[in-house]
Amino acid sequence: MQEKNINISLLKIYNKLRSNHKNGLAIVTVDRESCNGCFNKITPQKQLDIKQYKQYIFCEHCGRILIDCQIDK
Ligand SMILES: [Zn+2]
Repeated sequence: MQEKNINISLLKIYNKLRSNHKNGLAIVTVDRESCNGCFNKITPQKQLDIKQYKQYIFCEHCGRILIDCQIDK
């Protein structure tokens, strides 16, 4: 139940940020261990944090917020 709640609140913030940025470019998914915005490699530790929704992880290269792909539907 807890995990579900975290996902819902993350999704809300995600949607809010998306609407604030016309193309939704502030948030990108992680694809093949890389940032989908600038295609730089994400460190394994960051990937873990992203998967566990511990906090909002920013790409150190382009500054976008990184999220797990499964939310991006
Ligand atoms: Zn990036």
